[in-house]
Amino acid sequence: MTLPTLNLRVAIVGAGPAGIYAGNILAGSVQGSGGTVAIDLFESLPAPYGLIRYGVAPDHPRIKGIVTSLHEMLDARSIRFIGNVEVGRDISLDELQERYDAVILATGAIRDAALDIPGIRLPGSYGAADFVAWYDGHPDVPAEWPLQARQVAVIGNGNVALDVARVLAKHAADLRPTEIADNVLAGLEASEVTDVHVFGRRGPAAIKFTPIELRELGELRDVDIVVHDEDFSDADPASAPTNQLKVMLRILNGWRDREPSGASRRLHLHFHHAPVEVLGSDHVEGIRFERTEPDGEGGVRGTGEIREFAVEQVYRAVGYYGTPVVDAPFDIEHGVIPNAEGRVVDASAAHIPGLFATGWIKRGPVGLIGHTKSDAMETIGHLLADARAGLLPAPEHAGDIVDTLLMEREVAYTTWDGWLALDAHERTLGVNHRHTRERVKVVPRDEQVAISNSGALIGS
Ligand SMILES: Cc1cc2nc3c(=O)[nH]c(=O)nc-3n(C[C@H](O)[C@H](O)[C@H](O)COP(=O)(O)OP(=O)(O)OC[C@H]3O[C@@H](n4cnc5c(N)ncnc54)[C@H](O)[C@@H]3O)c2cc1C
Repeated sequence: MTLPTLNLRVAIVGAGPAGIYAGNILAGSVQGSGGTVAIDLFESLPAPYGLIRYGVAPDHPRIKGIVTSLHEMLDARSIRFIGNVEVGRDISLDELQERYDAVILATGAIRDAALDIPGIRLPGSYGAADFVAWYDGHPDVPAEWPLQARQVAVIGNGNVALDVARVLAKHAADLRPTEIADNVLAGLEASEVTDVHVFGRRGPAAIKFTPIELRELGELRDVDIVVHDEDFSDADPASAPTNQLKVMLRILNGWRDREPSGASRRLHLHFHHAPVEVLGSDHVEGIRFERTEPDGEGGVRGTGEIREFAVEQVYRAVGYYGTPVVDAPFDIEHGVIPNAEGRVVDASAAHIPGLFATGWIKRGPVGLIGHTKSDAMETIGHLLADARAGLLPAPEHAGDIVDTLLMEREVAYTTWDGWLALDAHERTLGVNHRHTRERVKVVPRDEQVAISNSGALIGS
C-alpha cells in the first residue's frame, strides 16, 4: 500500500527541547517521504531553548552542548522560530487551530510544585524554580535576589535541590567564567551564606540525584561536605538495586570519613527529615522536621522525633509544575495536559483531533533533555498516522499566515535571525570580559527583543 503524500502546516507551542525535537522529527519524516510541511514554532520568550537556557545551571556547560544540535535543527530553517509570542495571550489556541492542520503543545514547566506545610509562604521561603529562574537570568523574575542569610535550608533530594544548594554554596568567583548574568553575579558576590542544609524525607538509598551532580558537590572550592552517621542505617552500596545508586552511596559513604578542612562554607546533607513547618512570625526563622525511619517496605515512616534548625531562608525543591495553555485541557492534579501517548484528550477521554502534546507538559516534569526526544517521536508518530488516516480537521483559514495577525496586534515577535543576533551579542559581551566568559546573558525582555530585532528583519 502506498502512503498518501502529506502537505501539512503545523504549529508548535514552546521552543524548549521537546518542541524543537518534535519539529525536527516531523520535518524529517514528512520531507523524507516526499511531502511538504511548514512548521511554525511559537515561544513566549524572545529566545529559544526553554529550560536549557532558564533551568540548567550556568556552571553545567557540558549539558548546554545539546544546544549545538538544537541550534542546527533550527538553523536548517525547516522550522520557523516565532519568539516573544505567548499563545493564549498574543494569539489564541483557536486562532492557531483555524490556521494549521495540527497544533503541538510543548509548554514544559517553569513553576514550583506546591509543598503544603504551615509557614511555607513566609517571607524568606522560596520555590527553587523561582531561584533557578533568577540565577539563569529569566526576563520575567525580579533582577535582585535577597541573599542576606547565613543559614539556608533546601528541601528536596533531586538534582534541582543539588543545583540550588551548589549555586548557594559555591563562591561567586567560581561562577564568574560561566555565562551567568551580571546582576546575578553581583547578587551572589554579596551573599552572606555560610551553611547550606539539604534535607531529604527518605534515606540515602532513595535519593533522586545523578552521580555526576552528587560528586561535583565534593569538589567545590572552600566548601566542606557534612553528613551524619545516624542517617546511614539503610545506605549499604552492596544492596543498592542499580549501579548508579551504588556509585552514589559510595560517594556519600566516602564523605562520612572526610575530616572537615575548615572551609568558610559548609554544605550539609541530612536524610530522614520530613518537613513539618517553616518557623517564624513575619519572616523565616527556622524549620521543623520529623525524623523518619525505613518502614521495611521501601518507604519511610515518622518516628515522632521532632528536630528544628535555625535558618533564615528556605528553598523548596520538590518538583516543577506544568505550564497550562489557555483553552487547552489541563489536569490540575498532575500539572499536565491530559493525553493518550501525545494525542490530547478532553474530559471524556476522547481525542481532540489535530491537538497534540509533547515533553514535560505531556508526561510531567521529570526526566532529562534526552527523554524529550523519545517523547517527540511517539507524539509525531501519532500525528502522522492521523494525517495519513485523514483524521486531522481541515483548518478554516488554511491560507492565512499568522504574521498579519501578529503585526496588526503590534506583537514585537522575534525570529531565528533575531536569535542569531542576540546570541552573537551575548557572546561578544563574553569576549569583552577579556575572553574569560563564553557569553554574558542579556536579561531584560525589551533589551533582548530590541537586540534581536535590530539585526534581523521581522518575519525573515
Ligand atoms: C532546574 C533544572 C535543571 C535541569 N538540568 C538538567 C540537566 O542538567 N540536564 C538535563 O538533561 N536536563 C535537565 N533538566 C531537565 C530539562 O530541562 C527538561 O527535560 C527539558 O527542558 C523539558 O523540555 P520541554 O521542552 O518539555 O520544556 P521546557 O524546557 O520547559 O520548554 C517549554 C517552553 O515552552 C514555552 N512556553 C510555555 N508556555 C507557552 C505559551 N503559552 N506560548 C508560547 N510558549 C510557551 C516556555 O517559555 C519554554 O521555553 C533540568 C530541569 C530543571 C528544572
